[in-house]
Amino acid sequence: MTYPFPIHLAAQQALGISDKDWPRFLKRFFGYIDIPDHDLDTRWPWTSTRQKRGGYAMVHWRANRWRAHRVSFVLANGVWPVPFGLHSCDTPWCVRPHHISAGTAADNTADAIRRRRLATKLEPDEAKTIKWAGTFDHPPSPRIIADLFGIDSRTVYGIWNNQSWCHVTAKPVGPVIGLLEAAL
Ligand SMILES: [Zn+2]
Repeated sequence: MTYPFPIHLAAQQALGISDKDWPRFLKRFFGYIDIPDHDLDTRWPWTSTRQKRGGYAMVHWRANRWRAHRVSFVLANGVWPVPFGLHSCDTPWCVRPHHISAGTAADNTADAIRRRRLATKLEPDEAKTIKWAGTFDHPPSPRIIADLFGIDSRTVYGIWNNQSWCHVTAKPVGPVIGLLEAAL
């Protein structure tokens, strides 16, 4: 099978997908993208699940629920976009890797990030990591965690008190661990 852009050699490991699953994953992922053409401005719409809030394209693979534009970035670059995958086309359901860049708080005002994050949901891996941070003997300040993830500190308390994300396991996962460790 030919793919619409070159797949980075490190992408499979970054996504944690087995050799056996890899071709099937790629076939499914690209099967969900409706590629009209390769003009640079063209959006590539995701035809599968979109989040009800925020409209983000979602890809489900085994236990993972990923935002598809972040996965597209991984496929093209071999690493996750940290901390955010920013869309140059401002279209949550577009998964074209050329339109997505890794952005930090320095690229956006803190307010812009906060607005976006309040309007969308945390990734499950982020919730697991936040919950994990709450199990420490001396947990970091919820304020620090809230700033790291671009959420409200009440959301952090909610996760720690099992008022939200009570079904996820406290576990350090995903690219956010490095950010969290750096803040401790
Ligand atoms: Zn786009």
